[in-house]
Amino acid sequence: MAFDRLYGGIEAGGTKFVCAVADGLNHFLEESLFNTTSPAETFQQVIHFFQPHTTSGRIKTIGLGTFGPLDLDPQSATYGFIKATPKPGWSNTDMIGPLQRELGVKIKLDTDVNAAALGEFACGASAGFDPSLYITIGTGIGGGYLKNGKPLQGLVNTEMGHVRIPHDFERDPFKGCCPFHGDCLEGLASGPAIQGRFDEAAETLPDDDPFWDLEAEYLAYALMNYILVLSPRKIILGGGVMQRDFLFPLIRRKVQETLNGYVESRSLLENIETYIVPPKLGNRSGVIGALVLAMSAES
Ligand code: ADP
Ligand code: ZN
Repeated sequence: MAFDRLYGGIEAGGTKFVCAVADGLNHFLEESLFNTTSPAETFQQVIHFFQPHTTSGRIKTIGLGTFGPLDLDPQSATYGFIKATPKPGWSNTDMIGPLQRELGVKIKLDTDVNAAALGEFACGASAGFDPSLYITIGTGIGGGYLKNGKPLQGLVNTEMGHVRIPHDFERDPFKGCCPFHGDCLEGLASGPAIQGRFDEAAETLPDDDPFWDLEAEYLAYALMNYILVLSPRKIILGGGVMQRDFLFPLIRRKVQETLNGYVESRSLLENIETYIVPPKLGNRSGVIGALVLAMSAES
């Protein structure tokens, strides 16, 4: 009997894994979410979830958008490995091998932010806008930039969280928390950077704390640089910190102020509310993007 092809998608995060089986981008048949524990235990859960569909032959490819830093150089002996990561137990983890071996499928891999960018471009806030940029501001800060619908891949994958931005030590004495650069963007504006200043989780800092103005300013500096270098037609800001909706108008205004009218585009001058936006797919951008990866591998 003929049966329809299904696709698998995995969003691998430092705190949780989201897995989905779907026959199209908007039609999930099954979805499961579990905590990220050790690699062995977590992969076992992933394998258990997909096995019925890989054994039946309905899933032949699984897309995987994962946290990193990731080795995405196809020539490298450690292609598909997570490199040195602060996440305990996950440094030097092969993200492809165990799944490919146990499930007998092809794994199509990319970074978590590239996957989120692909999901939003396929059926979310950046659909029809090329090039597009998806930035996450969470435990880390990272960006996925798509040109002609494809993530920019060069020497390595882009690392937009680690750009340097103006930091006035008098106004903000926090030295930053990036283990590599101290006060890069991620070191100053990620969730852990907020926690590092206040000794409390970023989600508990009150909405009216004056710090949020500075947070918006840091993000606006970075967006200004991305706009000048990459000229995206749409910018999506996701991740835990951006759950503070009030940051959006603050960031938009500061982007306009810092650019000071230099980029003469209506997107920036008149329509910035529809230029810098939240994800349309909510917390599903990543897993939907992983399905896009799976589908693109088969087309
Ligand atoms: P991850 O980056 O691990 O994939 P998230 O995007 O959810 O996950 O980001 C988690 C980070 O976002 C944490 O540092 C957390 O403190 C911060 N965060 C989560 N919710 C909020 C909130 N409502 N306000 C501010 N920060 C938040
Ligand atoms: Zn850094």
